[in-house]
Amino acid sequence: MCDVCSIKEIDWKFKHGENKARLKKAFLYRFIAGFMVELELCSLCDRELFYNGEIKFLSDYEELEGKINKNKKKYLKPKIQAR
Ligand SMILES: [Zn+2]
Repeated sequence: MCDVCSIKEIDWKFKHGENKARLKKAFLYRFIAGFMVELELCSLCDRELFYNGEIKFLSDYEELEGKINKNKKKYLKPKIQAR
């Protein structure tokens, strides 16, 4: 289940069929300092994140923040230092 579609409460099966293998990993880098947020998104939400950018995306789906905060172990990954 796509992390954002589950917030939208849309009929996910209706929109995507039974194929659950189409989820892609997507990352948010500005959510919390020192961590990145790993989300599983369907191709539609993934595209939305790509075009709108992270800040707009988070403000469009305010519930996502609560969802991430409730399950930090699942969503937060330590940022890998690029140096
Ligand atoms: Zn989605």
